[in-house]
Amino acid sequence: MVTIGAKPVVGVLALQGDFREHLAVLAELGAKGVPVRRPSELDEVDGLIIPGGESTVMDKLSRAFGLADPLKQRIADGLPVYGTCAGLILLADTVLDAIDGQQTVGGLDVAVRRNAFGNQLDSFETDLEVDGFDGPPVHAAFIRAPVVERMGEGVTPLASLEDGRVVAVRQGNLLGTSFHPEITGELRFHRAFLDTVAAA
Ligand code: GLN
Repeated sequence: MVTIGAKPVVGVLALQGDFREHLAVLAELGAKGVPVRRPSELDEVDGLIIPGGESTVMDKLSRAFGLADPLKQRIADGLPVYGTCAGLILLADTVLDAIDGQQTVGGLDVAVRRNAFGNQLDSFETDLEVDGFDGPPVHAAFIRAPVVERMGEGVTPLASLEDGRVVAVRQGNLLGTSFHPEITGELRFHRAFLDTVAAA
């Protein structure tokens, strides 16, 4: 529920993973960020960030804490959500190379492949051109990252690797990146997401 004139509240799912880094970026941008661990906290937010970490663990914890179903409902109602890395996996309708029984909250009409970069390239950094961003390329950190392998019609690719694999997407109020802007000082994704939250 938004109070007229008040700053929107942006939740960061804080069950596991690098939620503190996201909260720090929100603070740097002057936004009101709050950790979300229970359904009552989810009720209070105008947008949500799902951090990087381990999607299998976040999946289990979000179901155990009773957050998964209310979150699905809020996404269906138009809640803006931004997922980085494991967060992108949680937003995806389909996960390739999931573990047995792994579920997602879904909403984003994509298939993502977990741990898409084998051994040697498990983790790496590279510069990316991102559609709609002014200024220098995005310096992106990939840490056991997923890639987007299929996209539904409503999904717009925002950035791709040199080999063409898609690593950033938007679909309406949902934003997902395979990489972690929250750890490289990159603020433009969070800024764009805050614009989405303000407009929603
Ligand atoms: N490989 C992790 C997973 O499957 C994601 C890694 C990350 O978020 N940096 O959830």
